Amino acid sequence: MVGVNDTKTALVTGANKGIGFAIAQGLGAIGFRVAVGARDDSRREDAVERLRAAGVDAFGVALDVTSDDGVAAAAKTIEQTAGRLDVLVNNAGISGRTDSGAQDPTTLDLDVVRAVLDTNVFGVVRVTNAMLPMLSRASAPRIVNVSSNMGSLTLQTGPVMAAYAPSKTMLNSLTAQYARRLADTPVIVNACCPGYVASDFTGFNGIRTPEQGAAIAVHLATLPDDGPRGGFFDDGGVVPW
Ligand code: NAP
Repeated sequence: MVGVNDTKTALVTGANKGIGFAIAQGLGAIGFRVAVGARDDSRREDAVERLRAAGVDAFGVALDVTSDDGVAAAAKTIEQTAGRLDVLVNNAGISGRTDSGAQDPTTLDLDVVRAVLDTNVFGVVRVTNAMLPMLSRASAPRIVNVSSNMGSLTLQTGPVMAAYAPSKTMLNSLTAQYARRLADTPVIVNACCPGYVASDFTGFNGIRTPEQGAAIAVHLATLPDDGPRGGFFDDGGVVPW
């Protein structure tokens, strides 16, 4: 008998718009049941409706990655609704304020740094650690951290943004730490860069579509068991750390 529990389930954080929505759509299109993690009720419900209209088996999960209690409740919601979790895509991210030299390193606003780290780095730790008990029960669990080439110390690309870029550098480092810790388990952890994507994040100036940006995350979410671990990838292959 086929029950609800037989469908692989993926949680995408920040899935109500932009790259996260496209990742949810992409995973849904290949048969995943998608938990749409989003912090705002109406934006989340709207995204779930749009995904369902596109044929995706989606359900909403209230999720603010900066809230310990909220993240714990999200794990319970997924456990109760789907009974399993196979893929986690840590996509939610913010750039942080840039006005008044807030991200110029010489005038850096440390409150902006704290806010950006709380979402882009601590948020990933909160969500990952809350979801790991469920992921660990899956046969082919995958974790994808949506990073940025702006966090690459080798490339040093994009505008000077002394809160955002280091947040992604730390996320890359954390990705490596998780991959090392989970090396002897089926849990495969990698980071990706979506490229410069037209979304609210970039004021829709990016040159890539959200679907193009989502492709590498969908790929890493569906790696075979002998796939790479603890790496940083974009559509072109390995991104230097
Ligand atoms: P976006 O359109 O601004 O979407 C960001 C998503 O994250 C939204 O759903 C937002 O929810 C959510 N979010 C922010 N803070 C959150 C929180 N505390 N809890 C839960 N969700 C939260 O940006 P995007 O371009 O799709 O970016 C997605 C990811 O790609 C980010 O990690 C970003 O750093 C990365 N990235 C983007 C680009 C690019 O060119 N766009 C390039 C490299 C990397 P709300 O709607 O509620 O705000």
